[in-house]
Amino acid sequence: MVKVAVVEGDGIGHEVVPVARDIIAAVRPDFEFFDVEVGYGRWERTGSACDEETLADLQSADAVLFGAVTTPPDPGYRSVLLQIRHALDLYANVRPIRGEGVDIVIVRENTEGLYSGIEWTEPDRACTVRVVSRWGSERIARYACNLAKSRRHLTVGNKANVLKSDCLFIDICTVEAARANVPCRTSYIDALCLDLLMHPDRYDVIVTTNMFGDILSDAAAYLVGGLGMLPSANVGERHALFEPVHGSAPDIAGRNIANPVAAIQSGAMLLSHLGDPASAAAVGEAVGRVLSAGIRTPDLGGTAGTREFGAAVLREVGRGKA
Ligand code: NAD
Repeated sequence: MVKVAVVEGDGIGHEVVPVARDIIAAVRPDFEFFDVEVGYGRWERTGSACDEETLADLQSADAVLFGAVTTPPDPGYRSVLLQIRHALDLYANVRPIRGEGVDIVIVRENTEGLYSGIEWTEPDRACTVRVVSRWGSERIARYACNLAKSRRHLTVGNKANVLKSDCLFIDICTVEAARANVPCRTSYIDALCLDLLMHPDRYDVIVTTNMFGDILSDAAAYLVGGLGMLPSANVGERHALFEPVHGSAPDIAGRNIANPVAAIQSGAMLLSHLGDPASAAAVGEAVGRVLSAGIRTPDLGGTAGTREFGAAVLREVGRGKA
């Protein structure tokens, strides 16, 4: 029995995850789902946002479907997602940006860089260590090259003109690309952010370090209709977690207006990862048909609610099966 851990998290996670879960359950009624609570809401209620037992629960699953968590900018609060990514060693964050005339995959290193978690606060300064290790860079470069082999080419997003740690990163990525016979170029991340928006057709697979990938993918969401549209996979050797790129969106939470496409497409990535690309494609096509029929949430200019959009996709999935 395939076991899927379901984490709604906070904010709109409570709205988009149930939609995605119902759709996965419709195409794979044989999957077993179990809920795991993490996040700011749990911290407010119990004083703990996530603990060892929670991490063990997540590790016991074949895959995790994740919503989003609120992380307050408080030096005393430890990011739950960073804890989970480290505990499950989810080193590759794969963020596909697909839409009309756009087919890009951002592969973000997910365990080190500026989000290494090595930081401290002194009375008059605060420091965060940016770690770029040979080992960490080699494995993310190999992951991206493997992907690029069946596509077109690789771009290494970096800031090596300023950051010595990125000189190591681009050296390793270009060596790995040559080894994999993947055409590769490097691009400074600031120029890349703009060029990606102006000329998305110039890009295919982009590999970059942790925080640059985080920022670049939010900006890239502009190409396909916004944050409500971007799914992602967080993958390691033994575990995998699937989540929308967006956060908990407290500004719209609880109003049934969040776009669940990112969460549904994250569910499709989960299906693919678990060896069922046919169901993944069926879900993706059902989402496409619903959007083409003009059923859209307000962020895309429509009037459909989160639940109503989900129900329409469920109907389409059922129709596809019939
Ligand atoms: P956000 O992604 O939550 O929201 C940014 C903007 O996009 C908001 O205006 C929001 O309403 C809109 N938006 C996001 N998802 C949407 C959707 N599905 N449908 C329609 N509109 C959507 O980012 P933020 O406001 O910077 O962060 C809010 C909280 O989320 C913070 O506590 C942050 O730390 C956290 N966060 C969590 C994750 C995660 O869990 N993976 C990622 C990013 C931010």
